[in-house]
Amino acid sequence: MTFRSPWASPLYRAGVATGRRLCRLAGRDEGPLIRRLVAAQNARVQRHIARHPVRSVLLILPRCIRQPGCPVDVRGDLSICADCLRCPLGEVARLTARRGVRALVAFRSRHAFAMAREERPDLIVASACEDRLVKALRAVPEIPALLAPLTGMARPCVGAKFDLVWVTEQVRAALGTNDNADDDHAAGPCAAAAD
Ligand code: SF4
Repeated sequence: MTFRSPWASPLYRAGVATGRRLCRLAGRDEGPLIRRLVAAQNARVQRHIARHPVRSVLLILPRCIRQPGCPVDVRGDLSICADCLRCPLGEVARLTARRGVRALVAFRSRHAFAMAREERPDLIVASACEDRLVKALRAVPEIPALLAPLTGMARPCVGAKFDLVWVTEQVRAALGTNDNADDDHAAGPCAAAAD
């Protein structure tokens, strides 16, 4: 199923880059512009997945959502997090296990893009800082991706927060309900901590 996004057009990308540059030159926050672009993308993706069933989902989150100081290497496998209640990655690990979806905690954007191109999931669900979201839209416009900006950050690239409820809901809605669906809403201690 082909997903068509204006982000595939060099002209569109140049227009976005110009808009961002003008914001910066005028001393204005480019956040509202990026959030509008992300909202338009999400609406486009929702229309696409309404017509094309989603069988595979790739969940991508940035490394800065890991609990500061946690020594666990979450790059390859989140299963070690499934019994942990100290940070939202525990909830993510349990969600991926219940739903059979792949999750990547991305230490480098290029790794996330390479994995997306290799796996070509029917849908990506991702949260990241606004700059990285634009990077993703530019890098893999051919893959439908529902995106959400991070909701907070303790300090640059440390202790990031994201909307776990939104992520869970996108996965649930895309894959449909099943016997385990109720569990998706059984928010653990990390659900509150994540937002
Ligand atoms: S869920 Fe636990 S083990 Fe996994 S990154 Fe967070 S604090 Fe570390």
